[in-house]
This record gives sequence, C-alpha cells and structure tokens, in this order.
Amino acid sequence: MLGDLPPEELGVTDSHDHLFLASAQLPGQELDDPAAAEAELRAFTALGGRSVVQWTPHGMGGRPGDLAELSRRTGVHLVAATGLHRAMHYADRDALRRLDPAELFTAELRSHAGLVKVAGAYHGLDAHARWTMAGAAEAHRATGAPIAVHHELGTAAEDVLELLCGDLGVPPHRVILGHLNRFPDLGLHRRLAASGAYLALDGPSAANHATDHHLLDCLAALADAGHADRLLLGGDTTTAAARGNPGMAYLLRRIRPRLGPDLAHRVFTANPAVAFAVPWTPRRTDDPAPDSGASW
Ligand SMILES: [Zn+2]
Repeated sequence: MLGDLPPEELGVTDSHDHLFLASAQLPGQELDDPAAAEAELRAFTALGGRSVVQWTPHGMGGRPGDLAELSRRTGVHLVAATGLHRAMHYADRDALRRLDPAELFTAELRSHAGLVKVAGAYHGLDAHARWTMAGAAEAHRATGAPIAVHHELGTAAEDVLELLCGDLGVPPHRVILGHLNRFPDLGLHRRLAASGAYLALDGPSAANHATDHHLLDCLAALADAGHADRLLLGGDTTTAAARGNPGMAYLLRRIRPRLGPDLAHRVFTANPAVAFAVPWTPRRTDDPAPDSGASW
C-alpha cells in the first residue's frame, strides 16, 4: 500500500488474510473496524510478522485508505487485491454485470493493488468465473501481477488451471491456488503443485473447522513430495467473529513451530517473496514489450 518493495523486504508473510471484508453473504459479520485490524497487526508483528496480503477483491469493503494508514501506523507491509469474488457476494448484481473486469483490475493494479483475486464455483466453473478469469489474465499480462484464486470448499482447482494456464495462457507459477486444504485430496494437491502453481493453504478458522485438522497433513504431504517451494500459508480471517479467534498471530505462535525451521522459512518468507513479486513496474498494455527477455 505504501509503494513497491524489493521482494526480500516482505519478510515473514501472512499470504492470505483479510483486515477488511464485507459480503452480501455475511450480513452483520463485516470486518470494518480499523482499531480491531490494528490490534491484529500488532499481535502479528510482535511475533516477527512483517507483511500481510489481503485477498479482499473489488467491491467487498477492502478499504485501501485504511490499509495505507494501518501500514504507516504499525510498520507492517500490507498488500491489497483487486479482482472479483463469486457473484453471490455482491448485493447489486446489475452494477456487477456492467463492469469491465480487465479494465477494472488493471486500473486497480496500477493504482494500489498487488494481486488479482478471482473465484471458481463448487466443483466447476460458472459463467461469472470464466468472465472474471479472462479479465484477470488480461490484467496479469498488462501488469505482471499474480492471480490468486478462491476455490469454493477447496474444489475445482483443475478446472481453474485448465482455464487460466491452458486457454488463457497465464504461466502456472503466476497463479496462487487458495483454500485447497478444505478439500484435502493429497494426490490432487501434489499434481497441482507439480504444475508449478502456488498452493496457499489457510486456517485454522472458526468458519472452516470441519477440515482444519487436515492443514498440517496437507503441508507435510506436499513438502515430503518435494513441493515445499510452492507452499504459502495464511489465516484467512473472514468474519468479525473470527477476528482474533484464533487470528493472524496464531499462524506464527502455533502453526510455525509445527513446521520446523526450514519449512517455516520457505512457507512464511522465501516463497511469498517470489509468489507475490512483480517482475517489472506496472506498464500500459500499449507499451512495447520489454526487451529484457522476461519469459513467463
Ligand atoms: Zn480469503
């Protein structure tokens, strides 16, 4: 939020979380309290946390102005998202349909955002997912920003990769697949990681406790299969009730020691520095292609 950083400045990173979020699906559960957000950040940074990536997409109360102010106050680097969530999360569907996703995402990446968040449907892709992912691919080509994907209950990641990386030509290592621990099919996880995409696991969370107990097994299975360099981890706090319960600090206090120092360094520090890097300054699509041989 306070400008571009060298990747190594990210440090210990919560790769998927929310300080601010409002959804038509979660009335009364809005994350909209800057003081509560600041308390979360202070607990996180007291344990060595340096950066938080907020996956709140366009139109869902991401409050970039408050993010910038909180970053100034706490010293924590904050990365904001553009993109669109599933249609059900928006009260005004007519306004949603009038948007031009590629134009919107590119403009927000150039003004303040560092990633594009989109969403699949349950075990498949609906028309909204295809529409937003086409826009995300175009915005990625224009800016170099990574694309982060919400998978409904952890499903449909193969469909997402086929669309984004097959039809739309996005390199797999610029795609971050979210929530896969909510559908803990370990063989599938290994195939997805072998594609080169990042897997952003998340939790624990009061909203997803049914599969929370698979989180460490999922991480261990992927690391044992040689995919430690594809792993990211976040708290994914989505409701006011989940804030601080257990909250961002839990990742560092309770999950990090379970990973051991080598895997913890990769998951919290080394991998985010690569996954969220943007290889050149965002540029206009009508600029000439870079001549540096950047190939991705
Ligand atoms: Zn999220």
